[in-house]
Amino acid sequence: MATAERRSSATHEVFNQAPPLEDYNPFDADEPLKEALRREGGDWAEDRAQELGAICGSRQTIRWGVEANERKPELRTHDRYGNRIDEVEFDPSWHELMRIGVGNGLHAAPWREPGPGAHVARAALFMLLMQAESGVGCPISMTYSAIPALRKQPELAAEWEERFLSLDYDERSLPAERKSGSLCGMAMTEKQGGSDVRANTTTATPLNGGGPGAEYEIVGHKWFCSAPMCDAFLVLAQTESGISCFLMPRWTPDGERNAFHIQRLKDKLGNRSNASSEVEFRGAWARMVGEEGRGVPTIIEMVNHTRLDCVIGAATGYRAGVVAALNHTAHRAAFGKELIDQPLMRNVLADLCVESEAATVSGMRLARSYDEVAAGDDQALEFRRLANAVLKYWLCKRAPSHAVECLECHGGNGYVEESGMPRLYREAPLASIWEGSGNVQCLDVLRGMVKSPASVDAFFAEVLEGAGAEPKLDAYVSSLRDEIPGDIDTIQTRARRIVEKMAISLQASLLVRYGDPAVADAFCASRLSGDWGHAFGTLPAGTDFSSIIQRHQPQS
Ligand SMILES: Cc1cc2nc3c(=O)[nH]c(=O)nc-3n(C[C@H](O)[C@H](O)[C@H](O)COP(=O)(O)OP(=O)(O)OC[C@H]3O[C@@H](n4cnc5c(N)ncnc54)[C@H](O)[C@@H]3O)c2cc1C
Repeated sequence: MATAERRSSATHEVFNQAPPLEDYNPFDADEPLKEALRREGGDWAEDRAQELGAICGSRQTIRWGVEANERKPELRTHDRYGNRIDEVEFDPSWHELMRIGVGNGLHAAPWREPGPGAHVARAALFMLLMQAESGVGCPISMTYSAIPALRKQPELAAEWEERFLSLDYDERSLPAERKSGSLCGMAMTEKQGGSDVRANTTTATPLNGGGPGAEYEIVGHKWFCSAPMCDAFLVLAQTESGISCFLMPRWTPDGERNAFHIQRLKDKLGNRSNASSEVEFRGAWARMVGEEGRGVPTIIEMVNHTRLDCVIGAATGYRAGVVAALNHTAHRAAFGKELIDQPLMRNVLADLCVESEAATVSGMRLARSYDEVAAGDDQALEFRRLANAVLKYWLCKRAPSHAVECLECHGGNGYVEESGMPRLYREAPLASIWEGSGNVQCLDVLRGMVKSPASVDAFFAEVLEGAGAEPKLDAYVSSLRDEIPGDIDTIQTRARRIVEKMAISLQASLLVRYGDPAVADAFCASRLSGDWGHAFGTLPAGTDFSSIIQRHQPQS
């Protein structure tokens, strides 16, 4: 008989079904994450991660994640008397999840408690909540990311920062000064252009002279505006000097609802617990952040951080898929053996684990560069300039294929909503689209190389830290260097290949230095030397499958 307990039903006994993976600690069970947290400077946060892990892996929190997706947010444009209210109603589970995130400072910790390892620690904690439900990651990430942009306008930062850094999650729709905590969103994308925000047609007219910090009236629309129940938004709009950045609160200083009208909510592939909307600004009140005409560089301060969260979010998806696949296959038998002991399934599982560990290790290394930049490290700034876009491209790009393979490990059960795998799968493509889609990331890498050649040196200096330890890595990096820049006429055409190789060489270098030896060997043999197929589950026969699988196995 298979491992799972027998349960009786009227016509048959139920057996050979895996138990749900709940009431386990996703931090405690995650060796690569624990190691990365310590290594990258966040060791002081281990107790917090243990505590949050216990909460996020609990049956209750997992249930909230399910419920928040089952009942999608609903738009209430008007109240019963016909007054415009523009509010979004959520299932109570959404608010519970938000309370966990905000209460644990995932939206604010590095600004509340700056110091060594602050962004690394937050990244690790973020990975824990996102495994329970990733939709809440959107407003939490935007609030965390808005602070550096807001600081471009010190008097606005002085007014708003304390609200955004509060650990109170206050879901009420009220003027921010009457709430115990606030959240911040962003609105850049318009119908005619998202990647190319310079095509924005929304206009900003000064109310009393204009300039940084001054009041403006905004007229126009945004085609995507996620988490529209946030208390304020960083918005791009055109002035006479070009694209500028504004802080637009939901309520005006007079205590009136701002002319921020939610047209409708998007009916999305995934990310269903979170509301994403189309909005119109019909003379909305806002204040300018940063220099007039410098809206893109101002909001890029925010985007730099949301992009880190796309990387961390993708790594979270890999880990969530891996633990689900390992749990299922450890408790499901076919042809006389648990699936996890079938040689071909072991290859699939190990390959998925290798990809997951590479994602965690590289995502956490990227998070460290945020701490180093905050400490004034110029080399880290140059490294981050490329590594951010390189990893955003590659981790997010691989996420859907990884998720679908984890789903398939469950057989038919994986295709059924209750398994949680369809939700994971639907979420997987999103991080690759928002905050700059795949091609845009690759073009950003090229732009970064031209703007600051020192970034290429900084990136490869990090990669070459692993030089000499693995001849396959040395050969791979040397061939990659020959391709940069190569033929300038074809550089954009080749950009995906170059960026992919940059990501793989960085991951290999980190795994060679810090990863489990079996994982590093499998990564280098497959991803660097090409001893691999075109699907997961094609690692070479000599791979140490046992060590890899054992290392990633979740313990209930
Ligand atoms: C669920 C969801 C929530 C979102 N929430 C927000 C939000 O809160 N605020 C906000 O401002 N935006 C939000 N967005 C919008 C998102 O950031 C944009 O969709 C994204 O930046 C792409 O812009 P676009 O949709 O206009 O596509 P386009 O700019 O039209 O791009 C289409 C494709 O062309 C590619 N491309 C573009 N330029 C080039 C080029 N030069 N060379 C080669 N390829 C190119 C892109 O990579 C992309 O694959 C959200 C999107 C989604 C799906």
